[in-house]
Amino acid sequence: MADYDALIAGGGPVGSALALALRGVCSVAVLEARPEGSGSSAARPIALSHGSRLILERLGAWEGLQPATPIARIHISQRGGFGQAELDCEETRLPALGYVVDYNRLTQVLSQLAAGACDYFGGASVLTLGAGPDAGRVSYQVGTTSKQMSARLVALADGGTVARVAQVRTRDYRQAALTAEITCARPHRNVAYERFTAEGPLALLPFGAHLALVWSISSSSARELCSMPEREFLQHLQRAFGQRLGAFEAAGPRVSHPLALKVAGTLQLSRAVVLGNAAQTLHPVAGQGFNLGLRDAWELADVTRGVAIEEIGGAAMLAAYAARRRLDRGGGIWFTDTLVRLFSNDFGPLRLARGLGLALLGAVPPAKDFVVRRMTFGARG
Ligand SMILES: Cc1cc2nc3c(=O)[nH]c(=O)nc-3n(C[C@H](O)[C@H](O)[C@H](O)COP(=O)(O)OP(=O)(O)OC[C@H]3O[C@@H](n4cnc5c(N)ncnc54)[C@H](O)[C@@H]3O)c2cc1C
Repeated sequence: MADYDALIAGGGPVGSALALALRGVCSVAVLEARPEGSGSSAARPIALSHGSRLILERLGAWEGLQPATPIARIHISQRGGFGQAELDCEETRLPALGYVVDYNRLTQVLSQLAAGACDYFGGASVLTLGAGPDAGRVSYQVGTTSKQMSARLVALADGGTVARVAQVRTRDYRQAALTAEITCARPHRNVAYERFTAEGPLALLPFGAHLALVWSISSSSARELCSMPEREFLQHLQRAFGQRLGAFEAAGPRVSHPLALKVAGTLQLSRAVVLGNAAQTLHPVAGQGFNLGLRDAWELADVTRGVAIEEIGGAAMLAAYAARRRLDRGGGIWFTDTLVRLFSNDFGPLRLARGLGLALLGAVPPAKDFVVRRMTFGARG
């Protein structure tokens, strides 16, 4: 007999959200490599869609994330080319186009709630995954001790370390995302800026009284920009972004995150599924990764709720989950990958086509509505 109905490998934001969504459905354990209470001190922004807010509210996690900074408008432009577009929440029926919170806070809030809702083991690193006819089996390590645990269903939400078993396809963008908190002369008025430059997209998101920078650039430039004095860094940022927000006055700690697309070839394994970053690690352009992973967790819990306990983790249930995620997942991967490849270059004809595309998006309300709904609710929006 299996130890649990569901075992979640990885208690990051997606694994913890799944544990919460399975509360009251079946018995759940989470194995998380990070020791309890650990975390990064540098702020890293994450933009949540309104659709994610609705899920987080149902999981009882939204309140703990306050104050989240609402995004009232998104301004999209390209450096060195014509064409720009604005998405305004007043043109939609949404209270906001999204919300910016700190990733570390999001992880902390969700994992603390998950720890109260299931058996949550911190400092437990999953090493291997195997399967018998009725249960998946993992080996894991706590300190120097090796242990085993079994469950009808193993959900791999480990960001991709164990899920290498799922035949991952990768594309190295040769870019890194530089994140930092920025203070500038003018108030942000809850506007998020997405500026496409030849080196890569630059996003400035409203974040409390400040702005949160997510600047995707070549890995070597990211290293240089992280190590140069603050003044010099702010001058580089000003040149790339322009004067729309006045002078950039200060920058918090700068952190560089390597970027690559990683797509698992399959979502279903024997007695196991992959979800969140383990299923698809996306470029941060347009802020889709967690929003998509949260929908993975929500749908997996929904499919689990719909079957009898003894059918949890069976081939039919896993196939149903994979089928439910196909469209949304494929759309999210295609959308971000295409944006990065289309916009991260300085090829003249493409610059012109991009300008026309942006001008069209800015001028045609149904096009705006389509983009906002997909970014808010995914492919089923
Ligand atoms: C710079 C940047 C900006 C981003 N901005 C946005 C945004 O604005 N909006 C958005 O939606 N997304 C954004 N993303 C993507 C988002 O951060 C990820 O999609 C999200 O963190 C995925 O969550 P996850 O739980 O699947 O994986 P992770 O956050 O990677 O969590 C995985 C967890 O598994 C644990 N783990 C790893 N290996 C093991 C093991 N062997 N055993 C047990 N536990 C293990 C880890 O400790 C971790 O807690 C951004 C990403 C980057 C890099």
